[in-house]
Amino acid sequence: MRFEKERQLIVEYGKKLITSNLTKGTGGNISIFMRNEKLMAITPSGIDYFEMKPEDVLIMDLHGNVIDGDKRPSSEYSMHRIFYEKREDINAVVHVHSTYSTTLSCMNWELPAMHYLVAISGGKNVRCSEYATFGTEELAISAFEGMKDRYAVFLANHGLLAGAKDLPNAFNKAEEIEFCAEIYCRTKALGEPKILSDAEMNKMLGLFQSYGQVKTEE
Ligand SMILES: [Zn+2]
Repeated sequence: MRFEKERQLIVEYGKKLITSNLTKGTGGNISIFMRNEKLMAITPSGIDYFEMKPEDVLIMDLHGNVIDGDKRPSSEYSMHRIFYEKREDINAVVHVHSTYSTTLSCMNWELPAMHYLVAISGGKNVRCSEYATFGTEELAISAFEGMKDRYAVFLANHGLLAGAKDLPNAFNKAEEIEFCAEIYCRTKALGEPKILSDAEMNKMLGLFQSYGQVKTEE
């Protein structure tokens, strides 16, 4: 099987989406970009994460053609493809409908720097992109623009998207941003959270460049 390692990793992290409470049922999608071959491995549409096998993971080119696999690819493949086409620092994308990020996205709110971990997004906030219908090129473009200079974005009235140099880091960013989104929702129920200063967040951004990454084999 071609790209067996990447396909196995996607199956493994698919299960983690459920066990980490980042998604329910068959929601969400994951991909890895094999930059040398210019091909991506992406989750199939509508298959239970605990029943998914490595051969169910699709291999696609950046023109939307399926190169290997007989299942239907995730309907959101455009939203993954655009980052591999236009961002050299992103080789894995995780998209989920996690409860608190989705709650904020339905308010069309951004996530401000109310916790230092927001810096894991690569900036002082996580923006909320403009609304577009799921599965469309418009959504891919609006997600791409919302994630400019960042590694995470809320998709308006939809959910969360995170990207990174590899899948463990993309997953970690999705998990930490969801944690911050939960805390933000809870603080907003109590009043107004104290926002960290730009100077402190700049310090965090510097620290996260060295400490904020999950260790992975290169
Ligand atoms: Zn979605």
